[in-house]
Amino acid sequence: MTEFLSAQDPQQPHDHTRCVSHALGAAEEVCAREGVRFTTLRKRVLELVWQSHKPLGAYDILETLSRDDGRRAAPPTVYRALDFLQEQGLVHRIASLNAFIGCASPEHRHEGHFLICLGCHIAIELDAAGISKAIAGAAKSHGFAVQGETVEISGLCSQCREAA
Ligand SMILES: [Zn+2]
Ligand SMILES: [Zn+2]
Ligand SMILES: [Zn+2]
Repeated sequence: MTEFLSAQDPQQPHDHTRCVSHALGAAEEVCAREGVRFTTLRKRVLELVWQSHKPLGAYDILETLSRDDGRRAAPPTVYRALDFLQEQGLVHRIASLNAFIGCASPEHRHEGHFLICLGCHIAIELDAAGISKAIAGAAKSHGFAVQGETVEISGLCSQCREAA
């Protein structure tokens, strides 16, 4: 699992259309493998989440869908689509922001660990394997079995630090 995060460093200027096409391709594969349907709505919601490297709230997704369709999108369908994407590991939920971010490596199940910039609000996913291992090791020394990991580190990204 060392090829984790083949994706672009979101801090650097890059061709984001490649991030999106990579993510959609990976999503198609994961859904095919799991035998679940990647419906039009699920795909649209995933594309919206991937519109940038900034976590997006369910409300913003609802607003955009409603605007694009010229009619009010039903909140439960959007929430169900987000649940689905989360279950399949295609998006991670950022608890501290109550928002969602696309995962660039959904083919391997992992917990999300993020650096979150307080300046420009991008979230940078960290290599999960090493961090999960460290958490599991530290928890084990307390006889504790880990069920969930929420690792959200706030600070300033390299671009915002340069601008400061
Ligand atoms: Zn990108
Ligand atoms: Zn991920
Ligand atoms: Zn920043």
